[in-house]
Amino acid sequence: MTSSSPSENDLPDYVPVPEAAFGPALNEQGYFVGRVERNLFWVTDGTYQSAFLATPDGVVLFDAPPTIGHNLRRAVDEVAAAEGIGNTVTHLVYSHHHADHAGAANLFGDDIVRIGHTETRRLLLRDNDATRPAPEVTFEDRYTLQVGGERVELAYHGPNHSPDNIYLHFPDHDALMLIDVVNAGWVPIYNLNLSEDVPGYIGAPDQAMDYPWKHFIGGHLGRLGTRDDLVLHQQYIADIVDSAHAALASVDPTPYFSKYGANAWAGVGGYLDAVTAEAAAPVIAKYTGVLAAADVPAFTTSTTFSILQSIRLDLGTGSQVHP
Ligand SMILES: [Zn+2]
Repeated sequence: MTSSSPSENDLPDYVPVPEAAFGPALNEQGYFVGRVERNLFWVTDGTYQSAFLATPDGVVLFDAPPTIGHNLRRAVDEVAAAEGIGNTVTHLVYSHHHADHAGAANLFGDDIVRIGHTETRRLLLRDNDATRPAPEVTFEDRYTLQVGGERVELAYHGPNHSPDNIYLHFPDHDALMLIDVVNAGWVPIYNLNLSEDVPGYIGAPDQAMDYPWKHFIGGHLGRLGTRDDLVLHQQYIADIVDSAHAALASVDPTPYFSKYGANAWAGVGGYLDAVTAEAAAPVIAKYTGVLAAADVPAFTTSTTFSILQSIRLDLGTGSQVHP
């Protein structure tokens, strides 16, 4: 314990997580595996999600989060036994290159077909992490994966959360997998789920809604999502965008720049912090108790900051050309 560690009593309280944000109970080993539809299954440890297709010709795994880790093997074994099929994982599809969704990929050996976007391959070769071998089968725009009579449509629609994040559509299972964009029932964590391309992230749920599906596998927390979850997420983000524009128009930068004078960065910091706080406050109030963790201040506030910067830098709003 360092002197800066607070006691539990000093930590803030938050409103209870809405019951609807939770998913099914985990088993003794700390995971839940459930049927999405037919032979498509999903696995969660309550925080991360993975999925797999159990076909007579082999198991196709979609992502391998290290927090689920060896429980992926247990979940596949459990389902294979119940379905009376083999438990060999023959294919692994990467949704994107991030270690928190891919860092258990090496648990399934080298004798499998790994599939991912060309940018995922490039980034994994760059990262050179033995737990995430680069995919050998890659694609640019679209790839139809066919195994054991099943079909998965992989598509790239540009950067969003990461430069390489893909859409995984299961047309014969009424399901869509899109990782790290919408957390069903919960707000995004810091900075729009730590997203690199803000306009791409904001537009991704629209792109997802263009597909026909009923079940959404978003990669996080303990339950599957619905189309209503995506609509609610879009409202939350749209409210932040509206609130950010309003705060940019209403907060007067003059006091910050006149007080700090030659310390230009102090003026910028004070002003942008004030705009961010003004923009985030009504959104936090509106969604507290609606989306879980909306009242964890760092999340809605940092997401608002990211959107504000995108409004300035991507959209060019508020830019003034020196006369
Ligand atoms: Zn990610």
